[in-house]
Amino acid sequence: MSGAKRILVLGSTGSIGLQALQVIEEADDLELVGLSARSSWETLVEQARAHGVTRIGLTDEASASRAAGAWPAGEVHSGINGLVELVLESGADLVLNAIVGSAGLGPTIVALGEGIDLALANKESLVVGGELVTALAEATGARILPVDSEHAALHQLIAAERSAGPGTIERLTITASGGPFRGASRSELQRVTVEQALAHPTWSMGDKITIDSATLMNKGLELIEAHHLFAIPYERIDVLVHPQSIVHGMVTLCDGAVLAHLGCPDMRVPIAYALHHPERMELDVARLDLAAVGSLTFEPPDLEAFPALAVARRAAVAGGTAPCVLNAANEVAVHAFLEGRLAFLRIAEVIEATLDELGATPLREFDALFEADRRAREVAAAKIA
Ligand code: NAD
Ligand code: MG
Repeated sequence: MSGAKRILVLGSTGSIGLQALQVIEEADDLELVGLSARSSWETLVEQARAHGVTRIGLTDEASASRAAGAWPAGEVHSGINGLVELVLESGADLVLNAIVGSAGLGPTIVALGEGIDLALANKESLVVGGELVTALAEATGARILPVDSEHAALHQLIAAERSAGPGTIERLTITASGGPFRGASRSELQRVTVEQALAHPTWSMGDKITIDSATLMNKGLELIEAHHLFAIPYERIDVLVHPQSIVHGMVTLCDGAVLAHLGCPDMRVPIAYALHHPERMELDVARLDLAAVGSLTFEPPDLEAFPALAVARRAAVAGGTAPCVLNAANEVAVHAFLEGRLAFLRIAEVIEATLDELGATPLREFDALFEADRRAREVAAAKIA
């Protein structure tokens, strides 16, 4: 038996999933034990063949039966329950959750509940159920390793200060590229198209997170993610716009020193970090040449043109079900925008109006989250119709 770490990749056909498969292929000490997607069964079967994996899961049941027909040698898990089976039966040492949206919450709960370490790209899991998710990880001893680049950066910076004791970390800073509309005024944002919003300047990502980056909601979600991962109060977490996406995160210490994490924007770096932690692997990615970059620039976020960030911060501070409502309304609004049914500036308005209508209720159990998510989707959809 080899001592390879067994990895299950959920959402393997997406942007993060594809890059994770590249990383795993290059690593001798990682073994792929399962793959999942929503409906892209042909790609999934192809991936399974290419990587010698027999267990796959498709949450869309019709796609799962097509995959089963095309691939009799393998085991195809079907539907949401199939995803749960995949986590429970794959024998994974670590689950990479690269599903998009609150659909990722279920697998996060199952993996952590089983005490399986979680490499978490699905930031929505922490946005929606941060307190409960981190409490579950603490109870079972499973680790949550962030894949989001800013949080992977902070994870490394904070780890370096662990021996310094409590009270050392004063502030956290996450950077934002500013997206394709950085510098635009509100009136200029009135008529932006889906195509323009999908043209991200520094990162190539799935559609949903690309729109979140254009509205700055992505940084709002990341603020909540950082709060739960590192147990730092919201008033001590800053967002800084940095168009070059070279500095990913910064930690301000109690003696005034500031530690920053730098690197060329390439998600394989944080993916490899999360998959290998506490070890590192040699990665064939571009090395940072600061002389070639020339200058790094920083500016505060424009909360008037990009109100989604301010809306997210308010929901974060309100706590309880508010971040779950924020996330669900955002998913509905972004989906409508991508389909051409909602104007860009209306995204934040729909989210804010949904939050105003539903308010925040305290949270004690996961079931309340699924109910809040469902209700918020209904309310947001009604505001768009
Ligand atoms: P993507 O849309 O490219 O891929 C999503 C994957 O999840 C696909 O494999 C898809 O089949 C699967 N999926 C979609 N809906 C599903 C559902 N309802 N149930 C089960 N599976 C489903 O998304 P992405 O850009 O790879 O992002 C994935 C996650 O990682 C998101 O939470 C995103 O915020 C986060 N993230 C992405 C990046 C990036 O560079 N792409 C960076 C940081 C964080
Ligand atoms: Mg990020």
